[in-house]
Amino acid sequence: MKILLVEDDPTAAYILEQELSTHHYTVEIIADGQLGLELARTFHYDLLVLDIILPNLDGISICRQLRSQGLQMPILLLSAKESSSDRVMGLEAGADDYVVKPYELPELIARIQALLRRGNSTLNTVLTWEKLQFYPDACQVTYSGSLLHLTPKEYSILELLLRNPRRIYSRSAILDHIWPSGEFPTEEAVSTQIKGLRQKLKGAGMTVNLIDTVYGLGYRLKAPPEDLSSAKMSQEKTEPVKTRSHSAPITPADKLQAEAKVQAVLQQVWEHFKESLPSRMMLFEQAIAQLSTGTLELELRLSAQAEAHRLIGSLGSFGLPKGSEVALQIEQLLRLESLGKNEAQLLRYLLEQLKEIVKDKPTTTATASDLKMGLSRLLVVDDDAILTEQIEREALNWGFEVKVATNPTVARRSISSHPPDVIVLDLTFSDTKENGLTLLAELAQRTPRIPTLVLTARNQLSDRVEVARLGGNVFLEKPISSEEIIKAVTQELNRNQKPEAKILIVDDDFQVLAAVSTLLTPWGFQVKTLVDPQQFWETLAATAPDLLILDIEMPDFSGIELCQVVRSDPRWSDLPVLFLSGHNDPEIVHQVFAVGADDYIQKPIIGPELIARILNRLERTRILHRFTEIDELTGTATRRKSIRDLEKLIRFAECQNQPLCLITIDLDHFKHINDQHGHTVGDSVLGLFGERLKQFFRSEDIVARWGGEEFVLGLYAMTREKGAKRLTDFLKIWCQQEFTDGNNQTFRVTFSAGVAEYSQDGTKLPELYRAADAALYQAKAMGRNRVLVSNMGSTHKVESL
Ligand code: GH3
Ligand code: MG
Ligand code: MG
Ligand code: MG
Repeated sequence: MKILLVEDDPTAAYILEQELSTHHYTVEIIADGQLGLELARTFHYDLLVLDIILPNLDGISICRQLRSQGLQMPILLLSAKESSSDRVMGLEAGADDYVVKPYELPELIARIQALLRRGNSTLNTVLTWEKLQFYPDACQVTYSGSLLHLTPKEYSILELLLRNPRRIYSRSAILDHIWPSGEFPTEEAVSTQIKGLRQKLKGAGMTVNLIDTVYGLGYRLKAPPEDLSSAKMSQEKTEPVKTRSHSAPITPADKLQAEAKVQAVLQQVWEHFKESLPSRMMLFEQAIAQLSTGTLELELRLSAQAEAHRLIGSLGSFGLPKGSEVALQIEQLLRLESLGKNEAQLLRYLLEQLKEIVKDKPTTTATASDLKMGLSRLLVVDDDAILTEQIEREALNWGFEVKVATNPTVARRSISSHPPDVIVLDLTFSDTKENGLTLLAELAQRTPRIPTLVLTARNQLSDRVEVARLGGNVFLEKPISSEEIIKAVTQELNRNQKPEAKILIVDDDFQVLAAVSTLLTPWGFQVKTLVDPQQFWETLAATAPDLLILDIEMPDFSGIELCQVVRSDPRWSDLPVLFLSGHNDPEIVHQVFAVGADDYIQKPIIGPELIARILNRLERTRILHRFTEIDELTGTATRRKSIRDLEKLIRFAECQNQPLCLITIDLDHFKHINDQHGHTVGDSVLGLFGERLKQFFRSEDIVARWGGEEFVLGLYAMTREKGAKRLTDFLKIWCQQEFTDGNNQTFRVTFSAGVAEYSQDGTKLPELYRAADAALYQAKAMGRNRVLVSNMGSTHKVESL
């Protein structure tokens, strides 16, 4: 598949070309807009990727001209211009998509793939296996150039296997894929078709059997003879991938190779780029010198502008988003109409910042996970122009892409065309009578749900109750700073994201550490490496990994000794441990398992195997964890899990010199509720209570069920008073919740709670728990339905309803 890239920044073009070619695309690069247009008119390309600002002709004009001549190839625009009017202009000119620089490579690739898929071109590429050629668009199959006459079923089975060369298909899976759902053939039908297919291939002169029978499992495409494997892949000495048809889906192994290649290339490119930086910075130095003594010459101004513009893109590609922001500020500054001494100073300041950022970059280049952190999309539905502008500005620092809708109608349009990841919604608008609550109600019906934070100047309890009922995740009260809003948004998003698995690798060989972490990061693992086993214990505690990888032979302590230590501590007894070693001495392997290892992998490391084993381990422990860490009925943490987390949080509060709130909650008269309405209804009350607690509190708070109808909360960096206030707010909402039993009897449930504070009421969990529980007991005695704070033994009432 051929892509034409019109881009005048050689660094950005080179990086993108490398990445695209690892995805098996053919890329042609041209830096001049006019020439780009000519090429696009004359030759066939599956996709055009256009920068906007280009010498001679800009990307938007290229797009407009091509469309006006009826050319329909997919076009993606690439630009550092981030204002929405540019976007609209690009799309109106006929572009299919628009990506803002600095872009994240994985996101850009995903968008390119999506565009190509839309054109359906992937499906139309010829599939090859040795001398066999499969032409999907012509529905023909040839072997050594001569046509095969296949039945439609034989044809479809062949296509299925060619497109999925590593998969084993059982006969019933093939039935599912190939036969129409109304037909009910037996599995014998599959065997018959496969037999026919094999015979026809043999008749055409194929000497090897293309389709392997995997006994007891099904069928699979055979790996093609080694000398014929695709040219591209056979160059890879480290990890030969034998089976490959030209447009086979990218498998994990391919992805790893591609990522590793990109890493290596990025590293090289970064080194070159770094060398060229001083001369690039000279331009700005010259501009500053001219500005401080007189006026800036137009020519210098333009080249400095162009340089700043290029830096926006390249710094982003190297995983320096901050640098790219500074470059943007420089570009904007150089565009100002009148420039004087003040601007010279500002430019000096920005330049120094830029130098710092570039200097601080570690020698290794952007890791794949740096590149992967795509921007989250935030939609702000509010007509307060000042606030939305502040939010937009603040959001930039936090890596959000912000859209603003000034009323619910505009918001609906935006949500359906570009679903955001999170929404901030005001409830009232000046230009319409419509209340934000109707939109909130619609959003509640949507799947997948978009977390929504409600923002309002009206703070009536009835609003809060309504918002909670409609599934609004957070209620924010105006006046509120843009910073607080973005913080709340970030928390809400984090809460909805699965945490990455953390892996700690201990090896005395830097090379191995570098290789393994390069291998693992693209998979979304958070990797921590340790070269000195002396620091093992501290690092283990600080990292709290989900999986540990150990080398065997190291100075001071062997991996086997470390594993013994890990297993003898109850906190780590169920941590998965994998050994990575050059040994294959059976005695040592035996020892490794004897000290409690979960798996043993021999060096040299085979990427896909390592990944598969790690994923297996993590999956198994996740399933186990689900049993032991999460309370099934309420979805909150179990007592066991929360004790560990609370102890960690207390230690953290101690180090950071922060308060921490420990709260015990007990539902009131719950026995009566069970007696009156039945245990099933009681269970559903508990379930909802857990859910609402988790919704109401922050993601870093601990919410746990300690047994029966008793819950425990840990709120970091909160005093007793603040914690009690927050819980009282929750109680106000909760006690409005109406339940209905099978006999249509309605009822409400209240709770009582006690609040203790680290370190006022104690420094250890048991002390804090006792203090909180004493306050809870007091709250019950005083008539329930209230939150009380402990006051070093004597408790006093804060609020009751
Ligand atoms: P108080 O206000 O003093 O806390 O009164 P109470 O009735 O809530 O307290 P008590 O400790 O006497 O009773 C707790 C009740 O909670 C008893 C038990 O039936 C009920 N319970 C505990 N676990 C569950 C559960 O998992 N499901 C249901 N439905 N009920 C539970
Ligand atoms: Mg070693
Ligand atoms: Mg109770
Ligand atoms: Mg109780």
